[in-house]
Amino acid sequence: MTHPTWPTRGGPQDLFYARSNTRGLPTIVRGEGIFVFDKEGNRYIDVVSGAFTAALGQGNRRVLEAMVRQGETLSYSYVRVARHEPNLELTRRIADLAGPGFERCHLTSGGSEAVEMGIKFLRQYALAKGMPAKTRVITLMPSYHGGTLATLGWTGDEDIPAVWHGMTVPSAKIPAPLSYRPSAGVSAEDGARASAEALERTILEIGPDRVLAFMFEPVGGQSTGANVPHDLFFREAHRICRRHGVFLVYDEVMAAVRTGSFLAAQRRPDCRPDIVITAKGIGAGYVPMGVMLAPATMVDELAGLTGFNLSHTYNANPIACAAGAAVVDEIVERGLIAAAVTVGNHVRQRLEALKERSPIVGDVRGEGLLLAIEYVRDKRTKATFPDAIYASDRSRQIGLSHGLMLYARRQNGGRFGEWSIVSPPLTITLEQADDLVDRLERTLADFTDEMVREGVL
Ligand code: PMP
Repeated sequence: MTHPTWPTRGGPQDLFYARSNTRGLPTIVRGEGIFVFDKEGNRYIDVVSGAFTAALGQGNRRVLEAMVRQGETLSYSYVRVARHEPNLELTRRIADLAGPGFERCHLTSGGSEAVEMGIKFLRQYALAKGMPAKTRVITLMPSYHGGTLATLGWTGDEDIPAVWHGMTVPSAKIPAPLSYRPSAGVSAEDGARASAEALERTILEIGPDRVLAFMFEPVGGQSTGANVPHDLFFREAHRICRRHGVFLVYDEVMAAVRTGSFLAAQRRPDCRPDIVITAKGIGAGYVPMGVMLAPATMVDELAGLTGFNLSHTYNANPIACAAGAAVVDEIVERGLIAAAVTVGNHVRQRLEALKERSPIVGDVRGEGLLLAIEYVRDKRTKATFPDAIYASDRSRQIGLSHGLMLYARRQNGGRFGEWSIVSPPLTITLEQADDLVDRLERTLADFTDEMVREGVL
């Protein structure tokens, strides 16, 4: 069947593609495992799993077949009017993997929506429990929690307020415990301590009775380039939130599945958050999917008071649930959570070696297969490249010629650094991972040469 060709007035119709910083992006037409192919037949390793999402790579038969089977059986249902088996199947699997303390979940259509659901759940719980003043949220600067108006307000990105001023409800921001650029300027531990102190100070300034939640990413994504806060921060944040009756929220939209355990929260049982948000790895890019996980105790308590019945039209869509269940089965049966650690450690070692050789790699960090390299112009001073260079985007463009699909990130004029994330599908083999790093090394060498030629280095 041929489709009519509609006239394209003034360029591509998706307004996203009109953005100047998407020029030079390849048009991809096909995917296979960890690879995507453009119109000209060029092959790229998907270094960032699309958006840290395609945990199983492209074209997984089991997931696709589960979707078709489900679509033929029951293609749509709405949570307010009926229960359905695919919802129960997926939530059962997620709760099994998440373990004690995270027995209940709410399925959404993506990360931002799940973050909002989580905060709305806590708000409703606080209200039902007689704490009506609790509305304020505290988050880190920098951080990312989504692109809806509510989540933009909680996101720690200094470029945001200018555009959305007056439209968002900003959270109070405290300095993030950045391991490479600690706010206290001394050590990562001192920086983490300073961040924890800022958290407590902020709670006291606002008033504990008014602070609903403190939310952070246990392993950062695009906002910090896979920053892992110092252990002290996890312990202190937990202690401070408990002491002042503030709910602790982990935003694991990116971190779940790929950082060494199903949830990063499971690796520190002593500092368990009250709720966890995840998304990307569960739908693995096959379907839009987000998950808010909460303890049965809280959910049951709220159910006995006012209940929680927020939902959106596509929450727990049966086809999405069937895909999610197949994704989770694949992850479990193929041992992909452990594989992320094995391959991730190998990649990390190779990136550390690369850092030693390269004049422009200042730091390598992350956990499992959520890793990042940070670009610097001067390794001693940690000075970033000038804004006009946009180093991560230059290397993204060069990467294309070496068969890599990278993701550029320079935030707040580079104040918090600039990096490329290495978060390929969890199905990547060791040989493929070596090939990825070889190509990345050639990309960085070419970029370095360009910088020398242009007199920047
Ligand atoms: N939180 C974090 C930590 C994220 O990385 C993202 C997405 N990059 C979101 C929330 C928002 O998720 P979504 O884009 O699916 O709405």
